[in-house]
Amino acid sequence: MVLISGASYGATPAGPLSVNGNKIVDQYGQPVSFAGMSFFWSNDGWGGSKYYNADCLNWLVSDWDVKIVRAAMGVEDTGGYIDSPANNKDRLKTLVDASIAAGVYVIIDWHSHHAEDYQTEAIDFFEEMATTYGGYDNVIYEIYNEPLSGCSWPNDIKPYAEAVIAAIRAIDPDNLIVVGSPEWSQRVDLPAADPITGYINIAYTIHFYPDMGHTQWLRDRGTAAMNAGIALMATEWGPKGTPGHEETVAWMDWCELNYVSHTAWAVNDKDEPWSILDPWIGMETGGWDANDLSTRGQRLKDICLNWDGTAPPPPEGVNIALNQPTACSSIENASYDSAYAV
Ligand code: MG
Repeated sequence: MVLISGASYGATPAGPLSVNGNKIVDQYGQPVSFAGMSFFWSNDGWGGSKYYNADCLNWLVSDWDVKIVRAAMGVEDTGGYIDSPANNKDRLKTLVDASIAAGVYVIIDWHSHHAEDYQTEAIDFFEEMATTYGGYDNVIYEIYNEPLSGCSWPNDIKPYAEAVIAAIRAIDPDNLIVVGSPEWSQRVDLPAADPITGYINIAYTIHFYPDMGHTQWLRDRGTAAMNAGIALMATEWGPKGTPGHEETVAWMDWCELNYVSHTAWAVNDKDEPWSILDPWIGMETGGWDANDLSTRGQRLKDICLNWDGTAPPPPEGVNIALNQPTACSSIENASYDSAYAV
């Protein structure tokens, strides 16, 4: 018999993701997107590292229904991985292990603005991550957070990315790898015109903050990049907190339409607009109620709780059994009953 499985991720473990054309697809080949959160820089002494714990991750999964998180491991800045490798790697691995246990996706983010200057360290790190985690479908590698405006795609980022990707693929043949682009990962037009070839499951990140003028022009650039053939994820973005804020709504509609997964900045209580928690509230193990969340935190919780990034079910009447009699021994869920099997 034929059973078409739907993408129902509520309590099920994360399945393998892959890139098919300009879309990220699930294990059934269906385009899919997920909503979730990025943690803050992991650096020693920067204030956000206290949230890198399993209880906080589990709270986001159970209370916010996040399906994907991002561990933003600081690299070259003070207190980051170069200065303090054991502390930062331990924090990241805590989140990765908790995400695997919870059945959600986790992005291992080399959170750098100058990654091409630390290629040797990046290769050593990602070889270790691929060895430890390459067998888990939950894990996504983000190898360069935000190249700056003076950084060249063909001369700096692409050669770096090809070297790191080769090292990962020598160990892990298949997990998604996400690559940044110049100008804080807004120049997705550059890899679209000159993509990395020779490897499967390569996607590119597009970062956007409506407060910083990232509006329709950047959505148009993203759409053009996808039309040119590359797949996108939005591994970092920041909403306006105002309910109904039109640019936030427009970006989320764009992500839903195009199956672009997104993780918002950031799980933190720093006194800045992007924190999901009220300033200096602590509460590092979760347990937040509405009064503990910033306006952006409330907005993001609402987005995560209501995200539907799955492809619509096949239309009724499509006969994929080629007129042969079939029987159905089980159903996947209420949306994918046996009627879709014939
Ligand atoms: Mg793998």
